[in-house]
Amino acid sequence: MNVDLVVAGSGFFGLTVAERCAAELGLRVLVLERRNHIGGNAYSEAEPETGIEIHRYGAHLFHTSNERVWEYAQRFTAFTGYQHRVYSTFKGRVYSLPINLGTICEYFGRAFTPDEARALVAEQAAEVAGREPRDLEEKAVSLIGRPLYEAFIRGYTAKQWQTDPRDLPPEIITRLPVRYTFDNRYFNDTHEGLPVDGYTAWLERMADHPNIEVRLETDFFDLRDEVVGRVPTVYTGPLDRYFGFAEGELGWRTLDFELEVKPTGDFQGTPVMNYADEDVPYTRIHEFRHFHPERSHYPADRTVIMREFSRFADRGDEPYYPINTPEDRDRLLRYRAMARGEDGVLFGGRLGTYKYLDMHMAIASALSMVDNRLRPHFTEGRPLTSGGMDVE
Ligand code: FAD
Ligand code: UDP
Repeated sequence: MNVDLVVAGSGFFGLTVAERCAAELGLRVLVLERRNHIGGNAYSEAEPETGIEIHRYGAHLFHTSNERVWEYAQRFTAFTGYQHRVYSTFKGRVYSLPINLGTICEYFGRAFTPDEARALVAEQAAEVAGREPRDLEEKAVSLIGRPLYEAFIRGYTAKQWQTDPRDLPPEIITRLPVRYTFDNRYFNDTHEGLPVDGYTAWLERMADHPNIEVRLETDFFDLRDEVVGRVPTVYTGPLDRYFGFAEGELGWRTLDFELEVKPTGDFQGTPVMNYADEDVPYTRIHEFRHFHPERSHYPADRTVIMREFSRFADRGDEPYYPINTPEDRDRLLRYRAMARGEDGVLFGGRLGTYKYLDMHMAIASALSMVDNRLRPHFTEGRPLTSGGMDVE
């Protein structure tokens, strides 16, 4: 095989490694991709009937406070000024998320000052005051009080995780900010936007280098014997699969998406509507046209919506979110030890590290791998091993 580096997987992690190694280190890079398109889960395409850009593997919103990642991303795409905002429907009424002063005023049906709202929530969280929350329910109640928890979190979380919130770890909920202002931006990051001409155009520009060859519909494992031990490799597929599931399978949640073209120019007036009621089977509906209000070529009389359903993944399903039970964490430690023994192979990305990574985190982690492992290997002859596979 006449290349310097093989990268298994063409998601943001794999493409960042490939692009930097080709452009900066002058290496010949072969990217192997199992699917029939590049880009991993960030891939998007035009829905054929309407031309509206849809995200096949779930809606992707780009946001980062990492200046290096922001600068790097802008080499391949310009960004729109899109700012993400989410609403939630509960018992036929609509509220703004994440929980903010507006949500509190709407829910309790009167005006609150920030101090009044804080006092109310403290009173409604009294049942868990003074102790460390043991599970997601206690954590959420401590942050927003019992009534808001029951309305916006309990049903949604039960649907999303198919697990009672009292059996889930408290950390899951800390991702959601709670604000005592009317600010209802979903993300706190310095930079936010969507790629002006779509995710796939961005991803294609990353791969567009004379030193990079991408082979689609090619499973790394079909070429494994030609690669491992002969060509330095960056593997971004599932960690457990690499080792033949020797320590058992790592648990994932997957999503099912139901796409529908509706005969109206606007179905819900906003990009994402969450559904908090437990008897509504889906967790949220995306309406893709609203991600790009600046696109004048979208049809005025049709729109594309996508309902999202969540469930545990079986083998063969797309792995989306690591579940991270204590058993998963034990298995992960054993797989990491095996990975450290695999000379000439580095493991990275969401699947290769069994970590939920936002796009900016996947890019940042790939840039670190180039700095800390690949450049020292190719320029100074340092050995290529994955001691410390953690996201750096
Ligand atoms: P992936 O994108 O999963 O790419 C891995 C690639 O490897 C895939 O193309 C796969 O086909 C390929 N592969 C696997 N095994 C093999 C093999 N054996 N041989 C060859 N190829 C193989 N991030 C955000 O910043 N904002 C968001 O709003 C956001 N929303 C998300 C919504 C969902 C539902 C999901 C699942 C993720 C979301 N993300 C979001 C995260 C984003 O998708 C990841 O950051 C990104 O996918 C990480 O890139 P990656 O390269 O590590 O993995
Ligand atoms: N969550 C919720 N109600 C909502 C939105 C989120 O209860 O309307 C909870 C849910 O447990 C979810 C967590 O907050 O897993 C994180 O939410 P986020 O929107 O970050 O979820 P994602 O879909 O990105 O994992």
